[in-house]
Amino acid sequence: MLADPAPLTLADQWRQRDLAVLWHPCTQMREHPDTLPLLPIARGEGPWLIDHDGHRYLDAVSSWWTNLFGHAQPRIAAAIARQATQLEQVMLAGFSHAPAVELAERLLAIAPRQTGRDPLAKVFYADNGSAGVEVALKMAFHYFRNRGENHRTRFVALENGYHGETLGALSVGDIPLYRRVYAPLLTEALFAPSPDAYLAEPGQSAAQRAHQAADALATLFDQHPGEICAVILEPRLQCAGGMRMYDPVYLQRARALCDANGAFLIADEIATGFGRTGTMFACEQAGVMPDLLCLSKGLTGGFLPLSAVLATQALYDAFLDDSRERAFLHSHSYTGNPLACAAALATLDIFAGEDVIARNRSTAEVMRTLAAPFADHAHVADVRQAGMVVAFELTRNGDKRTPFPAEARIGLHAYKAALKRGVVLRPLGNVLYWMPPYCVEDEQLDLLALTTLAAIDEAVACA
Ligand SMILES: *Cc1c(COP(=O)(O)O)cnc(C)c1O
Repeated sequence: MLADPAPLTLADQWRQRDLAVLWHPCTQMREHPDTLPLLPIARGEGPWLIDHDGHRYLDAVSSWWTNLFGHAQPRIAAAIARQATQLEQVMLAGFSHAPAVELAERLLAIAPRQTGRDPLAKVFYADNGSAGVEVALKMAFHYFRNRGENHRTRFVALENGYHGETLGALSVGDIPLYRRVYAPLLTEALFAPSPDAYLAEPGQSAAQRAHQAADALATLFDQHPGEICAVILEPRLQCAGGMRMYDPVYLQRARALCDANGAFLIADEIATGFGRTGTMFACEQAGVMPDLLCLSKGLTGGFLPLSAVLATQALYDAFLDDSRERAFLHSHSYTGNPLACAAALATLDIFAGEDVIARNRSTAEVMRTLAAPFADHAHVADVRQAGMVVAFELTRNGDKRTPFPAEARIGLHAYKAALKRGVVLRPLGNVLYWMPPYCVEDEQLDLLALTTLAAIDEAVACA
């Protein structure tokens, strides 16, 4: 006789119901549930995610880089609840509401500045990061149409960059896994070498690497005179591209090259904004202001989808005309949703009320100390950090010349090994990284470091 199967736990039941009806993002569904466990989360609390059976997982990746101050953060939750009883939504064409206006005022007040340049002056809302990128690309392109410079139609993007999944955003992205299948649908961007310090030749400094990449960008401008309408980049940190980091001098060079060639600089700070890399915005580390700034992810503290595109007055003015076609007619049903704006305002209140950047600086020091020993690990080729982001590049022999092949699934093994130990590490290929909510505490970072070590050893043993 067969023994009765173990009764299904609550989490098991949710797993079954989920797989019967849901199609998950960024997932080969065939890997569920055998290769990849599916985690039904019942609630969140600070940096913890808690499943239906009461298991707790430290959210070391801030739920895809969105969460800043912990899950179910009470002030943000209360602000959304309050707003929901006042005004949940009104279209933003022809109408206005206080949360949208206040948020725009406050974003413009904290946006990166640069001496000698007019500050960012207008805010356009969209629903998520990719939509924000689409807005910025269309604005840059349309500006030149409105000015009669019809030959300026091309975008320059960086190799290994990422700007989202919609077709326009994919066109300026350079991550083959996401892009390759859709290539026939994409517009042709020009790709400039990444300033990524990991790609530096032996003996070459990060700054030298950045200058070399900037020289290549200059060449690209020379090869396409008058054709380029904008350069789009992730300042300081290429997140989806494996948490690759670069010297801020590249941003200064890119800014100057855009100016010299009459092109816009679009800074995609969707992941780097709101204190993630040690300053409120990563552009500040280079003293550079973009013409268009894309924000999302942490904008609402990780509560609701919202993006904001900040533009200069000069850019905005080129759309003022008697003709409607010269206007920027882009819209989304939920543009400037009041609940999302309220969440963003509560998030900015937390920044205004506490010195979040200073606290992050000391948390980042703890992370630095915990990460340092990994540099000597036999399978770690690089340990790098930008503020609240630390990344570990895993290779077979711990040098840059022996990358693990994708088929080794190092990341998947590490993910499962960490999950068993109550930590969510979601590697990007062979790169493990820490990107915890800012409320993370020292003992949680200890757990994170111990788990990371165990996860690396277990993953390498599987490879
Ligand atoms: C996540 C991300 C996006 C896309 O944002 P979504 O909200 O996922 O569409 C764009 N750019 C960067 C740099 C990102 O990290």
